[in-house]
Amino acid sequence: MSIYENHSLLLHNTFHIDCAAKYFTEINSIDALLELQQSDVFKSNELLMLGGGSNILFTKNFNGLVVKNSLLGKELIKEDADYNYVRIGAGEVWHDFVLWCIANNYAGVENLSLIPGRVGASPMQNIGAYGVEIKDVFESLEALHVKDGSKKIFTNNECEFGYRESVFKRKLRNQYIITSVVFKLKKKANFNTSYGAIEKELEVMGVKDISIKAISDAVIRIRSSKLPDPKVIGNAGSFFKNPEIPSAQCDALKQLFPNLVSYPLENGNAKLAAGWLIEQAEWKGKRFGDAGVHVNQALVLVNYDKAQGNEIYDLSSKIVESVKAKFGVELEREVNIY
Ligand code: FAD
Ligand code: NAP
Repeated sequence: MSIYENHSLLLHNTFHIDCAAKYFTEINSIDALLELQQSDVFKSNELLMLGGGSNILFTKNFNGLVVKNSLLGKELIKEDADYNYVRIGAGEVWHDFVLWCIANNYAGVENLSLIPGRVGASPMQNIGAYGVEIKDVFESLEALHVKDGSKKIFTNNECEFGYRESVFKRKLRNQYIITSVVFKLKKKANFNTSYGAIEKELEVMGVKDISIKAISDAVIRIRSSKLPDPKVIGNAGSFFKNPEIPSAQCDALKQLFPNLVSYPLENGNAKLAAGWLIEQAEWKGKRFGDAGVHVNQALVLVNYDKAQGNEIYDLSSKIVESVKAKFGVELEREVNIY
């Protein structure tokens, strides 16, 4: 295994921030990872596990060891009357896994088509889109403790999944390296088309017989038409989470802003569309040097070319302040800041 010094991270983050890691390596097997854990470089440096770098903003060079996770493998490990259970290596590309499920008629992840990144990062923030989150299909994951290399299986409950949250983003931050994930996928699909524009897109596509493939195709079409492609313009998807507020506060805001976009939650609170708040605070399409707010998607901050990570971060701070001043609502960053 090669360990590179002062290695550029430009091609390893979808924001295209030009920065470097003090040390960088890539692991392709558990044995290589265990060997790495015994090395001085590993023991004496801060660690950053990296997948596709699509949920990260580097605000400076990383003064430690970046390990790109390329642990591969997709296998059916068991089945029962209702489910197929598959174990997927943490380094597999998420969307390739989704397409593999569709080809095998394993249902449950079709709404999560075209999300960038790798499988190992998917539990980190309980990735979600179009009314589905990975907690809905998650069985367990295997991880190695960063310090002592011991193996631990985490069940769904132990991951403490929440809205774009998990125990790995909070209590156990930087403590475990996720090596594989087991998903529990339905043999008979429950189609979920009521969210966002899926139904409308299926109509446009002329779909008569709904299938997981048709839903995946619809999601791919919507996402490709709405979201900036990181290959073309640097971004990390939604920069902020949709804020959750008490329903009484939501009702009061609606008196002041009758067009406020909100959704009732099962716990009695309300979820506000952060994109709408940012747009109303007049940030949509604003550009400062090469840092900006996307012209069509106010929730997505972009690097037009050579923006520094701290320029994007400063812009995000100004947005937080102005949304707070206008609506009294605090936006929380979804993207991991380093
Ligand atoms: P990275 O950015 O590489 O890492 C993210 C975090 O996870 C870091 O803290 C990293 O240290 C940690 N990590 C990564 N791998 C491991 C591991 N094996 N073990 C331990 N820690 C690890 N997200 C959604 O939820 N829904 C969406 O619909 C969505 N759409 C997006 C659209 C676009 C255009 C973009 C650019 C991003 C979008 N995202 C979305 C955000 C992002 O794609 C997801 O969060 C994705 O899961 C990140 O995967 P990654 O491999 O790129 O993670
Ligand atoms: P959209 O469909 O235009 O909807 C705007 C917002 O309203 C979304 O944030 C969504 O919340 C919420 N929403 C829409 N329909 C809803 C419903 N029926 N019930 C409850 N909430 C509803 O959103 P979009 O920007 O095109 O994104 C589509 C999906 O992809 C969303 O689920 C979004 O989260 C996901 N996405 C995520 C990222 C990321 O980086 N995290 C990037 C792009 C897209 P939710 O966000 O809570 O679903």
